[in-house]
Parts: sequence; structure tokens; C-alpha cells
Amino acid sequence: MATDSDDDRQGPDRPEHHCGVAGLLTKEESNIPELLFYPLYAQQHRGQESAGVTYVERSPHGIESMITKKGLGLVSQVLTPFLSENHPGKIGIGHNRYSTHGGNLAQNAQPFHILCNKGEMALGHNGNISNIEFIRRTLTDEGAIFSSTSDTEVILHLISRSHKHKLLEALTDTLIQLQGAFSMVLIHQGLLYAIRDPKGFRPLYVGWNDKLTVVVSETCGLDILGITEYREVEPGEILAIRQGGLGPAGWTSHRFSPLSSQKLSHCIFEFIYFARPDSEIFGRSVYKMRQAIGRQLASDDFVEADMVMPVPDSGNAAALGYAQARGIPFEMGLTRNHFAGRSFTLPSQAQREFAVKMKLNPIPSVVRGKSLVLVDDSLVRGTTSKRIVKLLRDAGAREIHLRLSSPEIQYPCFYGIDIPTRGELISNRLAPDALAAELGADSVKFLSEEGLRACTENQPDDYCYACFNGKYPEPLDAAQKKQTELK
Ligand code: SF4
Repeated sequence: MATDSDDDRQGPDRPEHHCGVAGLLTKEESNIPELLFYPLYAQQHRGQESAGVTYVERSPHGIESMITKKGLGLVSQVLTPFLSENHPGKIGIGHNRYSTHGGNLAQNAQPFHILCNKGEMALGHNGNISNIEFIRRTLTDEGAIFSSTSDTEVILHLISRSHKHKLLEALTDTLIQLQGAFSMVLIHQGLLYAIRDPKGFRPLYVGWNDKLTVVVSETCGLDILGITEYREVEPGEILAIRQGGLGPAGWTSHRFSPLSSQKLSHCIFEFIYFARPDSEIFGRSVYKMRQAIGRQLASDDFVEADMVMPVPDSGNAAALGYAQARGIPFEMGLTRNHFAGRSFTLPSQAQREFAVKMKLNPIPSVVRGKSLVLVDDSLVRGTTSKRIVKLLRDAGAREIHLRLSSPEIQYPCFYGIDIPTRGELISNRLAPDALAAELGADSVKFLSEEGLRACTENQPDDYCYACFNGKYPEPLDAAQKKQTELK
């Protein structure tokens, strides 16, 4: 069994996601990097390790240049200078990145900006191409040179190498070679492209008003710009958005995958944990979905408790739904410090032991002597939950019944989510009763997969549940199959 300190060294005790994207096109000349700052800031939760923008700027002499600024750090750290500078133009894209492939390296920051036989272009990508290693090996064998370990650079190589001369055709040529998850924004010769994989793993939206058209991962990136009209970029769709035309009148829609051949696989974890509760994804409010999950979790749970409380913030809406369904008072017995960083970046074990305390603090006057239903989103290694349970016991909680708004995570993800190896996942080592003892809780209960499917508004088959049940929506290669083995 891994110790807490081992866990901390190995990585975060949450599934982690890979990136948010934004792209925009304006009617009048505007300060494009400043406009991109806002949706990227709103989508900061999708990736905190690097940020960047590529925009086309017009000089006082009327010359247009494509410029990229990116670096390690938060949007506010990398892009704040743009709030006080002026870069007039009409088109740009941006990206927030969470790093797993190749680690937290500056050369993996996005967007990727290149000059190739199709001209100058820049690409930002959210997701994970599940057959990327095969493609990269093939290209390397043919003499391709890579400056990063990012999937995005490989996609650009494929676009450049396509024998089709028109970009749209080269894009189609490229996209049909890719498997896995990709929600992308690309700029090329005054056009903004929004592209989504045929299974729709990750969200992607396009919104518009009378001044601009914006592409974002989540609708919270539209809200911040005051945009209320929007639609999803459809799975298997390329939107080519041109300058001068706003909203649907300004774009052409192309399919690189026929609708009839598509079996959707939206990532159900986007609802459980990743997306912001004020966003809409996959056509549905994240908040409402989490509340429904909480109600479902309560539907066959009869534990007696004085209060229901969430592990903030991702447990909030599910805990509220649970409390409403059971008629048990809802309390916020843990306060979250929103300025605390991720625990695994702390250098010493003593500091890592302290990490949960830096993030969460119980309110003794709320929890003392009380029996609690504590609602969290998921269990990965269990390290954080164990420390939270101890914090609450130390604050005087009498009983702690941990409820998880997801099924047990037992398998890795190949579509853009960083989940530890099967052996590290606590649900592969311990059944709920043993888990409760390990975590110091009085009981532990997970939402069943059946219960989760019941929350999907009659569309249970449009989602991916592979990290819970090992049923992957795409065939796995030998290396991936090996990763699904429990050693
Ligand atoms: S395996 Fe899990 S985390 Fe990955 S896409 Fe499927 S549901 Fe999402």
C-alpha cells in the first residue's frame, strides 16, 4: 500500500485535465490579446501550468503579423501585460494548459505557431490523441523533427505533409487519421477554425454577438464577454469562421466524419469534476447535472446524519442535491482557500502533509459533535480524503459518512485526463468497507454507474464511462492494453 507521502510524490490526488481553448474574430479592429485574456481567465480551472495567445496584429503601416506570446504560469502571470498594451487586429486564439505529456515544459505551451507549405498558422488543442505515439513514430522514421512532446505539434506536421493544397482539405486529411479527443482552434489566412472530434469527448462552443464570434471550451468563457447566443461545435464538425461575418452568417460548417457513423462518447467526468458549475457543456448545465447526481446518490442511501456538507468546490452542487433529496440540513463545514496551489508541487514531505490544511479548513462550531454526510466528487489515491476526514475528526465531528458523486475509478483514461496507474487507484485495492477503515470514515459509498447513467436525461449511451468500467469507446493498442492490466 502506498503511503501518503508516496502518493504526494507521485502526483495529484484528483483526475487532472488537459487544457482549455479560446478563439475569436471581431468585426471592428480590437485589442485581440486583451479580449482573449478574459475567456482564458474564466477557463483557468482547465489548466494552470501554461497559458498563451496567438494573434494577428496590424502595424500603423497596415502590415499584418502573426504573433505568439506564451509561457509557464497562470493566465494572470503570463498575459496580464496585454491588459495595458494595445495590439490592434481582428483574429486570435488562446490556450490554458495542464501538463502531463512531457511534463511542465515551456516548449509544450500552446498555441503552436508555425510556418509551413500551407502558410503561417497557429493551433491550440484540448484533449489527447490516443494513437499519437504511432503517428509520431511513423513521422520520426520519415525524418520529421519535433521540438516538443505535444500532440499539437504532431497534428501540425500532418497538416503540413498533406498533399491537399487547400487548408480545409488538408485538415480533413489530417483529422481522419486521428483517434481520441480533440477540441481545437486554429487560425490561418484570416480564418478561425473550430474543430471537434467525432465522439465529442471534450466540450467546444461557439458564441456570437454583433461585435465578435468566440470559440471556447466552456460557456463560462462566453459569459465573461457578455455573449448569450451560442451553440456547440458539433462532434465531427469543422467550422470555418471568416472575418467580416458574425455568428452563423459568418461561418461555413464542414463535416470530416459523417453524422450517421458517429457514436458519441462525451467525457462524463467533465460533469462530475472538471467543468465550472456555471458552464453549460454537452448541451446541459453542469450545476444542474451535479445536483441531479447528488439526488441520485441520496436515492438509495438511508444513513442517519445531522447535516450534509460538501468538500468544496466540486462537491457543492452534488451535496446540495443530496441534502434536498433527503431533507437533511446543508452546511458548509469546510472553508476552501482559493489561493492554495496544488499539493504535489510542495518540495518537502512536511509541507506536503500540510497541503490539505492549506487548502481546506473545518469550521469547528459547525461540525463539532455532529454526524456528517460528506460529499466529494471522486476518489483517486484516497490521500486527500484521508486527510480531510482527519481534519474533521480533529474539529470534533462525531460520524463521517463519505459519499462520492462518481463510481469507483478503476481504469486509466486515454482521452486527455491524467489518472494514475491501476495499482495506485485506491478503489482497485479496497472495497468500500475496507476503504472506510483506511480513510478513517464511518462509511463510504459511491454513486453506481447505473445511477450516473440515470442522470443523463435519457442519453446514457452518449457518454464515456471507461475509467469506471474499462469499456473504452475506441480500440486500444498493445501499450494501452498493458496499462489497463492490474499489476
Ligand atoms: S475515461 Fe473517464 S475521464 Fe477519460 S474520457 Fe472517459 S469518462 Fe472521461
